[in-house]
Amino acid sequence: MTDRWFDRLVEQLSRLPGIGRKTATRLAFALVDDRDLARDLSEALRETWERVRECPRCRNLTEGDSCSVCSDPSRGGSICVVANPADLRSIEDAGLFRGLYFVLHGLLAPLDGMGPTQLGVERLVRLVEETGCEEVILALDATSDGEATCSFLGRALECTGARVTRLARGMPSGASVEFMDALTLAQAFEGRRKV
Ligand SMILES: [Zn+2]
Repeated sequence: MTDRWFDRLVEQLSRLPGIGRKTATRLAFALVDDRDLARDLSEALRETWERVRECPRCRNLTEGDSCSVCSDPSRGGSICVVANPADLRSIEDAGLFRGLYFVLHGLLAPLDGMGPTQLGVERLVRLVEETGCEEVILALDATSDGEATCSFLGRALECTGARVTRLARGMPSGASVEFMDALTLAQAFEGRRKV
């Protein structure tokens, strides 16, 4: 099949993480075969595109003015810094943490255009100062970019006087926060140490 609309659909689907060309083609056929599915999915996508945005305070995803964590008055005391909303969700699902979050939307990688501005470092410093939080926990992947980001944030947050800790080494090297099981994540939180 060489129809332009079909190629376009396959091309867009294959932009998703973990979706190769073959899978994208299979998904495209599934969407063509099931019109209800195509309609429901496109409505869900439109809603995501139109309504979901960054929480102005912590950069978590939200469809309101403030995300569900920030609008919960019982939360506070410390701030957990994560690379992306998927990491936040893993930590929330594991029920490990009752403080606030800050989402970097990436890791420090100057060669890929990810610098302090893209990570919102100034906003993080402001949030720590505004909330007067005692501890900032860096829950970042155990990769070289994650290490570099931890060192950088440790220095950037010095001025706030907050204690900056990071997840324990129990996290296997190369591990991604998003895919860690709840037990490993709990141990990494438990054994966190000063940056
Ligand atoms: Zn928020």
